[in-house]
Amino acid sequence: MKFLIWALLGYLVYRMFVGKAPQKIEKQEKSAAETFQDPVCGVYIAEADAVVGRLEGKRYHFCSMECLRKFEALQQRQ
Ligand SMILES: [Zn+2]
Repeated sequence: MKFLIWALLGYLVYRMFVGKAPQKIEKQEKSAAETFQDPVCGVYIAEADAVVGRLEGKRYHFCSMECLRKFEALQQRQ
């Protein structure tokens, strides 16, 4: 009977390791494919290609420095 419990435990540990591996790959794919919308021109940009600007603690993603400057100018007017 003890052998069965150990076998079951071993199987569960095995399943945990086997089950975790594909999830990790999925997460990496998700973060790599994550896109942000440029609040100025509305274009969607991948984080790797985006120009990141910070305003009042919030992070904004822009397609170019031009859009970042436009956004900053708009914020200062308000
Ligand atoms: Zn833009």
